[in-house]
Amino acid sequence: MSLVAIVGRPNVGKSTLFNRLVGERKAIVDATAGTTRDRHYGKTDWNGREFSVIDTGGYTVNSDDIFEDEIRRQVMLAIDEADVILLLVEVSTGITDLDELMADILRRSPKKVILVCNKVDNNDQIYSSHEFYALGLGDPYCISSMSGSGTGDLMDAILAALPADDADEAEDDLPRITIVGRPNVGKSSLTNALLGTERNIVTSIAGTTRDSIHTRYNKFGMDFYLVDTAGMRKKGKTMEDLEFYSVMRSIRAIEQSDVCVLMLDAQQGLESQDLNIHNLIVRNRKGCVIVVNKWDLVEKDSNTMKEWTEFLKKRLAPFNDIPIVFTSVLNRQRILDVLQTAIRVHQSRKRRISTSELNEELLPLIENYPPPATKGKYIKIKYVTQLPTPTPQFAFFVNLPQYIKEPYRRFLENNIRERWDFAGVPIQIYFRQK
Ligand code: GDP
Ligand code: GDP
Repeated sequence: MSLVAIVGRPNVGKSTLFNRLVGERKAIVDATAGTTRDRHYGKTDWNGREFSVIDTGGYTVNSDDIFEDEIRRQVMLAIDEADVILLLVEVSTGITDLDELMADILRRSPKKVILVCNKVDNNDQIYSSHEFYALGLGDPYCISSMSGSGTGDLMDAILAALPADDADEAEDDLPRITIVGRPNVGKSSLTNALLGTERNIVTSIAGTTRDSIHTRYNKFGMDFYLVDTAGMRKKGKTMEDLEFYSVMRSIRAIEQSDVCVLMLDAQQGLESQDLNIHNLIVRNRKGCVIVVNKWDLVEKDSNTMKEWTEFLKKRLAPFNDIPIVFTSVLNRQRILDVLQTAIRVHQSRKRRISTSELNEELLPLIENYPPPATKGKYIKIKYVTQLPTPTPQFAFFVNLPQYIKEPYRRFLENNIRERWDFAGVPIQIYFRQK
């Protein structure tokens, strides 16, 4: 999926614009509780074309006390990763040194750049925007991120600048599995362990999607694509940059896969970046398997695995049925388990349950535990059906859908999960008026 990056010095309105482009739409698309935490990255669509937006400013630290170096880095990251870059400036301040610095770098880059003049809250200010022409990036698009004025024209310009749609998706129906995680957890080691020595059995098909590689794995009775995104340049990058690249790389790989293997380092445990990646997986409705790697380095007794499992489930709540595999890639311990588990999750994600089976199982349960009456109103669930969507979604038809509360929704979800084994698969539940 194409990526649009917003760059600009602090306070020009990057996060306001980001929220304007992504925020409301995301809230509508992802109305599920607890899935809209990551503010800096999101998907949007315009005239039927979907693309991702990132506020790179959100990834740089100390934005109060910003140094040229940091700004330069922000811009370089955008150049490396994005298809289209929005350089945001602010109408009332005129051109500042930092604006000039960024424009200089961007002018020399091969990427498409759109100059956007923000905080044009009324028509008179449009005249002041002309001075930004001097940045050498063409005429600025005048917008007010606050009110939204001008953002429609900006969206048209973004669409015109985006590369042609990937039109990827090979014809076959093989699972696409990707390994994601923070730097140094062991992702490449696992990939090499799986593919490295057996090149004759796998075929690399050069990116069905731009800048990603799908390698077919077909042995031990398993047949799937391992999705990997190219272009992670480790040399000369700071740790923060590595984090950034790994986030970008994860985002792209997640979008292109069916099941994500989220790899952790047993020595480091589960940290907020891991939760962010997990959040992206859930938000993209992909299957998930957790792998705790470097298990060889952990001092263990017979309870250690169980304790880890309980700890992880607690941290990942309410997603408490994610399969967890403990590996040592170094010792080739349980690495095939990872694949088998991922394939099982893929099968669950494609599972279709007939309406009759669903109702036979769930209606008696609902009869015994009906949704609690609200405001004296009796709530009746009449039937349930699985929607014909690519990922599991269920619609319950109810007389008063607005009165069904989150705990009851979760009760239904948990029952569906247990009865039909949706371990590791995000499912959506909707209540509709009937
Ligand atoms: P960032 O540091 O570039 O992410 O900037 P923010 O999005 O945090 O915005 C900085 C300040 O500018 C905030 O107080 C915003 O409310 C304000 N702001 C953003 N967009 C507009 C706009 O279109 N008009 C006006 N008047 N203020 C804006
Ligand atoms: P990536 O950045 O996630 O791709 O991580 P790498 O695959 O490059 O691995 C980072 C480091 O961890 C390397 O030095 C690996 O040799 C080491 N490593 C990977 N897996 C294991 C493991 O299971 N046990 C131990 N002890 N080290 C491992």
